[in-house]
Amino acid sequence: RSLDSMRNTPELLALQRANTDGCSVVTRFPPEPNAHLHCGHTKAMLLDFGYAMRNGGRCILRFDDTNPDTEEQAFIDSIIETVQWMGYQPYQITYSSDYFDRLHELAVELIRRGKAYVCHQRPEEMARDREEKRPSPWRNRSVEENLDCFERMRLGLYDEGAAVLRMKIDMQHPNPVMRDPVAYRIKYAAHPHVGDRWCIYPSYDFTHCLVDSLEWITHSMCTLEFEIRRDSYYWLLEALDMYRPFVFEFSRLNLSHTVLSKRKLTQIIERGLVRGWDDPRMPTLIGMRRRGYTPVAINHFVASVGFSRAENNVHLRKLEACVRQYMDQHAPRRMVVLEPLPVLLKNFAQALSAAEAVTVQVPNHPKRPELGTRTLEFTPMIYLERTDFRLQDAKDYYGLAPGKAALLRHTGFAIRVLAALTAQHAPATSDDQVQLLHAEILTQLPQPRPKGVLHWVSEKSMPCECRLYEPLFCVEDPLQAAAEQNLSERDGWLTFFNPKSERILQQARCESADDWQPGAIFQFERVGFYCVDPDSQLEASPPHLVFNRTVTLRESFPK
Ligand code: ATP
Ligand code: MG
Ligand code: MG
Repeated sequence: RSLDSMRNTPELLALQRANTDGCSVVTRFPPEPNAHLHCGHTKAMLLDFGYAMRNGGRCILRFDDTNPDTEEQAFIDSIIETVQWMGYQPYQITYSSDYFDRLHELAVELIRRGKAYVCHQRPEEMARDREEKRPSPWRNRSVEENLDCFERMRLGLYDEGAAVLRMKIDMQHPNPVMRDPVAYRIKYAAHPHVGDRWCIYPSYDFTHCLVDSLEWITHSMCTLEFEIRRDSYYWLLEALDMYRPFVFEFSRLNLSHTVLSKRKLTQIIERGLVRGWDDPRMPTLIGMRRRGYTPVAINHFVASVGFSRAENNVHLRKLEACVRQYMDQHAPRRMVVLEPLPVLLKNFAQALSAAEAVTVQVPNHPKRPELGTRTLEFTPMIYLERTDFRLQDAKDYYGLAPGKAALLRHTGFAIRVLAALTAQHAPATSDDQVQLLHAEILTQLPQPRPKGVLHWVSEKSMPCECRLYEPLFCVEDPLQAAAEQNLSERDGWLTFFNPKSERILQQARCESADDWQPGAIFQFERVGFYCVDPDSQLEASPPHLVFNRTVTLRESFPK
């Protein structure tokens, strides 16, 4: 039965061809506009858009907007922009609500064919009877009565919940979805796309297959949790003698240390745990974009994960490795000091025969000369990273310590510390007292050559803010962790939110450059991969620069 009901008649196939200019692959990407897209959606997009693109076909971006309670225009706009940012060009943008008139006609036709009825059971009665395979007392009303009641539903003559239209399928069916699923329900809510024309709205089970069919979709792909809805998908199309797309399912993508469910992401927003939907820690695509992740890196990741039906639980390190690989190839290098420690180079004038500053030419990328060079000024006062000086030397430590030399990146010089001073210019006795170093430039490189090569910025550098990001959750799977500890199913998983997921360093200093444009990506040498956050105020004087750490230079997950 199942195979037969999936088969199209030659007439229907001919109609499909005629309506799609002979296109043999027509897919759709069908987000519900009740949240922003997240990383999981990239798998669906790569399948829906990617399969169509590879086969010279078309992919429609369809807003599956049948639930007016939670849907918003802002999400629609964001989804369109994100799809384009990911590099996809929808053949058409449609809305399930575009078809509300047609769907209503089809519902009336279904009633006429004796295959739908208006039911007045309360939701809990309906659920119980479905469980017990007991037919509704309203199941055998006459067609006339059903037509009349359905019209009354449409006219708003019932209260919300007082009536639904149900498909008359099979209350004994082993698949519970087939036990007379709901086709229409009453909702006195205005719809973001069609306004307040309707007070009855079609269900997912009624809408999805009909709109797929009306759009002449050839391949309808969805995630595995919809597999049990496939029977009713084909039942309805068969009941109405309509064209039948080929349906197949793939597994959801799950990522460690985060959640990829719109409802859960909404909870994180509502709790105010992050800056918003586009917080760089969020697995939303607008968040990943703000973090500096690029579409190429993201797609590389999703493609590498594969499209199987098998469970898709992927460790965050895999995504980060793809991002790191992309950044390493594409990000120009810069020097930024996160926690600056001023260093006075006492012999600057004698060593360099220059009173003020000397310039050095610095390559923008070690392996890509075509990215050019930039000029840095090397000044008598520079800033080094606080963690690159210690009063106590150690064997595996290559930074500066009293008497120990290290090289300065891109200068060819080494320096040696002469004194570590407190704010009052007294000798410091512990690392946290150190506020200033006195050092000398060694024009002769010491032998053996120092192992440490330190990044630095000059007196001409600019203050900036660096935001360092860590995983959103402390554990790989917050939902499972909550279940194991018997925490509340509703929000227990939120206890694993990582309070250190954002660390803000407001005293950082960066090279004064003119290419700090929002979204631009960089490698800060020895420090990490970063991008310029849109919170930056580049026009202000002095400009306020904010950088987000996109990813660390090396993997930081414990083995
Ligand atoms: P949620 O359960 O988070 O509400 P959804 O499946 O209802 O997600 P939609 O916006 O309706 O989300 O989904 C649009 C498309 O993206 C659907 O085809 C859906 O199956 C797919 N999709 C959603 N989440 C994932 C995921 N984590 N991995 C792969 N595909 C996904
Ligand atoms: Mg959905
Ligand atoms: Mg959903």
